[in-house]
Amino acid sequence: MTATAVPDQALDAGRRPTWLTAEVLDDLLRWVSRDPGGAAPPLAPLAPYDGRPTAGPGGVPASTPDDVAGAVASARRAQRAWAVVPYSSRAEVALRFHDLLVERQDEVLDLIQWEMGKARFSAWQEILQVANIARHYARRGAAYLADRRVRGAMPGLTRVREVRVPKGVVGVVSPWNYPLYLAVGDVLPALLAGNGVVSKADSQTPLTLLWARRLMAEAGLPTDLWHVVTGPGSTVGNALVDAVDYVCFTGSTRTGRGIGSRAGQRLIGASLELGGKNPLIVRADADVAKAAAGCVAAAFGNTGQMCIHIERVLVHTDVYDEFRDALVAATRALRLGQTFDYSVDVGTLATEAQLAAVAAHVDDARAKGATVLVGGRARPDLGPFVYEPTVLEGVTADMKVCAEETFGPVVSLYRVAGDAEAVERANAGSYGLSASIWSRDTVTAEQLAGSIRAGAVNVNDGAAAAAGSIEAGMGGMGDSGLGRRHGREGIVKYTESQTVATQRLVPLGPPPNLPVERFVALGNRQLALLRRLRVR
Ligand code: NAD
Repeated sequence: MTATAVPDQALDAGRRPTWLTAEVLDDLLRWVSRDPGGAAPPLAPLAPYDGRPTAGPGGVPASTPDDVAGAVASARRAQRAWAVVPYSSRAEVALRFHDLLVERQDEVLDLIQWEMGKARFSAWQEILQVANIARHYARRGAAYLADRRVRGAMPGLTRVREVRVPKGVVGVVSPWNYPLYLAVGDVLPALLAGNGVVSKADSQTPLTLLWARRLMAEAGLPTDLWHVVTGPGSTVGNALVDAVDYVCFTGSTRTGRGIGSRAGQRLIGASLELGGKNPLIVRADADVAKAAAGCVAAAFGNTGQMCIHIERVLVHTDVYDEFRDALVAATRALRLGQTFDYSVDVGTLATEAQLAAVAAHVDDARAKGATVLVGGRARPDLGPFVYEPTVLEGVTADMKVCAEETFGPVVSLYRVAGDAEAVERANAGSYGLSASIWSRDTVTAEQLAGSIRAGAVNVNDGAAAAAGSIEAGMGGMGDSGLGRRHGREGIVKYTESQTVATQRLVPLGPPPNLPVERFVALGNRQLALLRRLRVR
């Protein structure tokens, strides 16, 4: 593993991106919805590169539950006007946002890295996802939300349309691991569907979201339509779920369960994008070199802090040794470190807590007899929270890393005898987010996908093929969540279906001069006729 430390020339004396001056910071922080006299203590996220506050000594101002109520009320007022703006005009805002994002990407790439520590290429993938989402829903959203003409109760006399109406105000809660993609990618379709939005910024990565909020204002979004609140989930997060008309949550299964039941109490809908323990299957006929490279990308991309990243690798015994050697060699070749350029493949973990959690899984496995083939140690010489990409062998069921989500750059290898065992092991556990199959026989691999309980199955790709296909739904089964982002469901979920039925000429029910018995007899004859004519 090659090491790359922080180049001093990229940072000022405070070791932050040089353009992030106190004035720029103030300009970002003013987008936090809060009463300046509020009593909530400020947030103090630390930059993973140097362990010092990202937002300077003053920290990030925090909202209170009252601020949440105010933000939701303001978004609700703005939403009424926005709901009647033609879709094409809303789409123009999204497309302007797209253009500004692509043009200014260097700023937000710096910010994502500064707040979260991932390698720059992983940060760029967030730009790619958000730009694709903006363009896709701007161009296709009107079709996804179009009225649907359906047959009425009295064909010809009852005209019926199913229309989509916005939910109202959507609450979006997202985690720190994709501070741009997961925060903004779910907001764009909510806005385009005619909603107001209140986002709760993650406490580690609020600056990236505030930067995007400011950019959306430049793109022409009405000011009060989208608010950002900050603060702990237990107060600000709960207040948000209690006030909005729909919740889009991304985060851990534990928190998702709580949010789901809170939303259920209020009878509002929620989409829950949660954790995973994702398997990658290498069949006997796989191209082993490509499978090893794909595994490296899917296991260590985003420093392994990715819901769909690979943590379990199930390798056919015939190619196990060859695959293991290729994977270890490719892992060793990764460039590890912290830089504000593309010279590093794997960045740092985001926080001290992440470092402790990842190290605990590896230490537990090692203590119980697993072999560390590569990695397995922190690298304080490269940065305070840097941990080496790690491959384990000999993992058994009593080890935490076997079934619990690690959410870091750690994969375990398991030898399997064939497809049946691979599928059985892939389906073990309660998660069902993403899976990967490597095989030269793509027909069989696609058939095998049907037996795997996961919201996405990638064939001859580790994770990105499905997640990057914005037109297809993305989400989990089992403990990995409810609902989907992307595609049709990713925008329709932010609307209610309303049936508009217009009755013409004669009313439904017996006319005044016809006895009910006669009307019922006619009705029964009509039912028999429709059945005979095979009318649907
Ligand atoms: P987390 O559940 O601890 O926190 C996620 C967000 O929820 C944070 O911003 C937090 O402040 C907020 N929150 C906490 N309690 C809340 C409450 N009661 N009400 C409202 N908001 C509340 O998750 P995390 O550790 O920050 O993120 C990592 C987890 O997210 C991993 O399990 C990962 O697999 C999962 N994840 C899933 C997806 C997906 O699309 N399925 C994507 C990324 C991450």
